[in-house]
Amino acid sequence: MAIRESGIEWTHYSGNAWIGCTAVGPGCNLCYADALFAKRLHMVEWGQGKARHKVKGFSAKVRKASQQAARLGVRQRFFVNSASDIFDNEVPEEWREDVWNTLRTTNHLDFILVTKRIGNAVKMLPADWEHGYSNTWLLATMVNQEEVDRDMPKLAAVPAIVRGLSIEPIMGPVDLTEWLHLLDWVIIGGQSKQMGDAEPLVANYEWVRNLIDQCQAAGVAVFFKQWGAGRVAPHGNVIDGVSILEFPLSNVRRCISCGCHDLHACLTDNGTCHWASSNLCSRCMTKSGEAA
Ligand code: SF4
Repeated sequence: MAIRESGIEWTHYSGNAWIGCTAVGPGCNLCYADALFAKRLHMVEWGQGKARHKVKGFSAKVRKASQQAARLGVRQRFFVNSASDIFDNEVPEEWREDVWNTLRTTNHLDFILVTKRIGNAVKMLPADWEHGYSNTWLLATMVNQEEVDRDMPKLAAVPAIVRGLSIEPIMGPVDLTEWLHLLDWVIIGGQSKQMGDAEPLVANYEWVRNLIDQCQAAGVAVFFKQWGAGRVAPHGNVIDGVSILEFPLSNVRRCISCGCHDLHACLTDNGTCHWASSNLCSRCMTKSGEAA
């Protein structure tokens, strides 16, 4: 039986290699990590130029979770940096290198990275990232159409075994038509309830319904986490009588040139599959052959 030690519905575990961050957009309003670690616990100061707090026990926590998963005989999900951003440009590169070391040497977990700084990914990923670590899912947060238009090209440019989008809190209608073929997973939600008096955003029914329908029509896994404002599971994530809690396959492979994972696209005339020897789909392989 799977264990879930995190309060975040789509992961079994969460842990921080460091704590502290700077708000970078409307999705950071009411940041729970700022409310908890800065305003309540006074562990760090939040914002630009403020020192981040390195967490000593991160790799030990990962190791323990991996051992637990090995004993269970099932892979478990581990959300990295729930109170910080892996691509924060205000942490030393060595801190990020420690994280990559932990990820690349852990066998029984699938790591989930969620960033609001996807534009930094290409320059901050490790040299051996290549087509993405086989145990690491990469998600970017975008909360409205403006952010999708601005940041989806950046996310699409980064190879990852599972590529996803976190639209939480959803702050407007979002059309993903142009991008769904490059996505494996979409998380949707309202704004979590915070300490203090600030009023969190409840997700708009039409926006959520429409996004779920877009994903399901395209065969993209979609996870509706919460309406928001304290309405969480088991009843705060029901839409039209159903909880939508889908996960991507963790072994998705995609063409490194166009990003598609259309299995039919990699069949040749005689029925063999290009994946056996290449990371290009047949369309891109044909094009590269033409170019050569
Ligand atoms: S990026 Fe995440 S952790 Fe950082 S301020 Fe924004 S919501 Fe908080």
